[in-house]
Amino acid sequence: MSLPPPASPLVDEPLPQPQRFGPAELARLTAMVLQPSLFYWKGPQTTALVDEFRRHYPLKHCLPCSSGTAALHVAVSALRLRPGDEVIVPPISDMGSYIGILYQQGVPVFADVDPRTYTLDPADVRRRITAKTRAIMAVHLAGNPCDLAALTALAREHHLALIEDCAQSWGARWQGQPVGTLGDFGCFSLNDFKHIGCGDGGIVGSNSERYGPGLNNWADKDYGRAEGGRDPETLAPNYRISEPQAAVAAAQMTKLPDIIARRNRAGELLTSLLAGTPGVQVPLVRAGDTHSYWFYMLRLELSRFSQPRAELAAALTAEGVACSVLLLRKAAYRWAVFQNHDIFGGTWPARDAGFTTMDYRQVTCPTTEAILDDCLKLPINEAMTEAYIGKVARAIRTVLARHAK
Ligand SMILES: *Cc1c(COP(=O)(O)O)cnc(C)c1O
Repeated sequence: MSLPPPASPLVDEPLPQPQRFGPAELARLTAMVLQPSLFYWKGPQTTALVDEFRRHYPLKHCLPCSSGTAALHVAVSALRLRPGDEVIVPPISDMGSYIGILYQQGVPVFADVDPRTYTLDPADVRRRITAKTRAIMAVHLAGNPCDLAALTALAREHHLALIEDCAQSWGARWQGQPVGTLGDFGCFSLNDFKHIGCGDGGIVGSNSERYGPGLNNWADKDYGRAEGGRDPETLAPNYRISEPQAAVAAAQMTKLPDIIARRNRAGELLTSLLAGTPGVQVPLVRAGDTHSYWFYMLRLELSRFSQPRAELAAALTAEGVACSVLLLRKAAYRWAVFQNHDIFGGTWPARDAGFTTMDYRQVTCPTTEAILDDCLKLPINEAMTEAYIGKVARAIRTVLARHAK
């Protein structure tokens, strides 16, 4: 069905690629190899990383760790869930959002998302609150801040913790305030694919006097390193960062404002150029918020086109538009791990022992499923020029017009 690729595609240049690492990283790595130790605790690079992080995120308690998944697991651990306790999560996210909850014998409870922002719908979150709910996990998907006014109010009303999953939202701001500083925890990823990265790494921060002190214990075998102890009081994994990762991350952190400003400009430009295109629904950014565009996601009104989404995407690709419809083939609750309840050795002890009756085969979130059926994901990065984005927007408008009903 697809036509052969045109000789001169509408986007006639390759996807720009930023130079992500350079002299700043090299300087820190050089200093690092001359150190007597590469251990994180009181390590100069890890200390520098926390200092640089705090320039952007004024959080009292900050713990660099081994991944975004680890950061989220540390936050969930600090809540001291009891088996069967529930954490409300969105179904469009990374597995890392759910892993810590499951390891702590908690229950991820999926709530639906908003059709325009793709982030948690506070009204549906409210419907999912039960006597066992302990926390809400607000995933700022793609860099678009969640409705934190509503979610913080819900958390306060029901005495729930608010965990902000900021893995995709470095530099995003809710009403001017950096996301990650409004909830009880802000959890960040430094994996290779995020706005900034060090191969793998993460940071969890908190201003909470209840949960903040001792965060390190949840990533460091509960060894009580600050107290000089080695007498674990409870179970905690080793999710430590190391000095090589921290050196790169500390250097990356200095580039954050520039990266975010460029990505924000790129995303906003794309929205302004695509707004009003028949059959396209651009993402909604609430007035006063700053989206940091880890990626760009729009929705297609498929009934207005003569071709299914896969054909439209193929036609876009043929015109040189980097795009993907495979962001997430399924809502997270449809993943095999949830459908089979295969958490530990083919069983789910929390359920088998009667702490929960959750059956993920019964879960549906209609808006999430609609989004995943009609979305189109476009890459954004800090190397994109206005001219490049102009070509992408023009190509999208042209290709979609060709296939309009
Ligand atoms: C990347 C990501 C994570 C996990 O981070 P890792 O560093 O890969 O463990 C968690 N949540 C979201 C929303 C992510 O995008």
